[in-house]
Parts: sequence; structure tokens; C-alpha cells
Amino acid sequence: MVKCTCLCKSVEFDVNFTTKNYSVCHCKDCHKWTGGVYMSLSAGKDLSFKNEAAIGRYSHSSWAERGFCKKCGTNLFYRMKKSNHYFLMLGLIDDEISLNFNEQQFIDEKPNHFSFSNATNAITKKEMKILLDDYLEKKD
Ligand SMILES: [Zn+2]
Ligand SMILES: [Zn+2]
Repeated sequence: MVKCTCLCKSVEFDVNFTTKNYSVCHCKDCHKWTGGVYMSLSAGKDLSFKNEAAIGRYSHSSWAERGFCKKCGTNLFYRMKKSNHYFLMLGLIDDEISLNFNEQQFIDEKPNHFSFSNATNAITKKEMKILLDDYLEKKD
């Protein structure tokens, strides 16, 4: 299990990550939400937080919500409502673990003033919409 915490440590939980692959989302919503770049790692469905009362949940769409620490404001996760699947902010991970940056989402919304040199898959807004539509059609 890997320990994860927010900046003030009010939010703490352990995750058994099943993938090393993480992604960046360049969409305009994630830029606003993070103030920069959203780097996320899939954390599966069965997360149990030690202090749920410290977590604020912001429902931004019919299919997903975004979580944050009510005390320090650290952004925590993006959660798919239907499947209860969590995608965690990479910075929450306290332990040193091996990771692989393998995907950039909404590549066509990335600002021109920076780019990552990692060799990753790049997914456009149109391709993301198809993936999301497929996901929302699935019955979990
Ligand atoms: Zn906090
Ligand atoms: Zn995004």
C-alpha cells in the first residue's frame, strides 16, 4: 500500500495502485482546477479516506466530481460518479514509487508556451469525447 496525504495532512489514505502509468490532462477545466497541469494516476474504486469530513466534493458535470481538502485547499481527485473510479493527483503520493508518464489528454488544448519532452500517447479532444461516451454507455 502507498500512503497519500494532502498538504496539511488532514486527508490521508492508502492506495494499492494497479498501474504505474499516469497521464496529464491539458483541458481548460483542468487548467482552471489545478492552476497548472493535472497529473493523475488511476487509483481504482475502493478508496477509504481516514477523514472524509475534511474532503470537499465539487460536482462539475453529471458524470464526475472533483475533490479537495477543505482545510488546505489541496486538489485531491477526479471521481467518475457511475463507476466510483478515482483518478488521484500525483502530488498526493508520499512514498517513492516507480511511475511512467504515458499519456497526454486534450493535447489540442495544451497552451503553446510549454511542452513535455516525454514520449507519450497524445489524445485529442475529439478522441477523448469518444472515450467518454463509450465509458458513459457502459453499465457497471
Ligand atoms: Zn489538507
Ligand atoms: Zn481535464
